Amino acid sequence: MAWTYDPTNIFARILRGEIPNKTVVETEHTLAFHDIYPQAPVHVLVIPKGPYVCFDHFAAEASDAEIADFHRVAARVCAETGVSPGADGHGYRTISNAGMNGVQEVPHYHLHILGGRMLGRMLQ
Ligand code: 5GP
Repeated sequence: MAWTYDPTNIFARILRGEIPNKTVVETEHTLAFHDIYPQAPVHVLVIPKGPYVCFDHFAAEASDAEIADFHRVAARVCAETGVSPGADGHGYRTISNAGMNGVQEVPHYHLHILGGRMLGRMLQ
């Protein structure tokens, strides 16, 4: 499977420091920052620093270190924003849109973490 990464996408520009962001957590491999158009009181995007288009690209080609770090950062976001049920928060939802049918706007893999309000039922 061949994925083509577009280095002009907005998250690549954020990673290069060309566009500011409100960082929540940053590590060697991963950046988490607030969504510019939040759909909930907590709406954070977690992105790998490597050039991956979508979830399956990341899962297939990223190193184990990148994949582990990505998920540890996502967990830190849940803890640090207070949405984790394990930390007495009220829970959250993770979403990753991919490609045209998934209505992915930015072609750099990202995980949305949404919380801070009751979210509607999604899958029926
Ligand atoms: P997608 O539809 O690709 O899953 O979601 C892309 C997300 O990126 C959207 O929720 C959108 O609000 C967010 N976004 C787009 N441009 C920017 C930006 O320049 N800065 C930040 N922080 N978020 C952005």
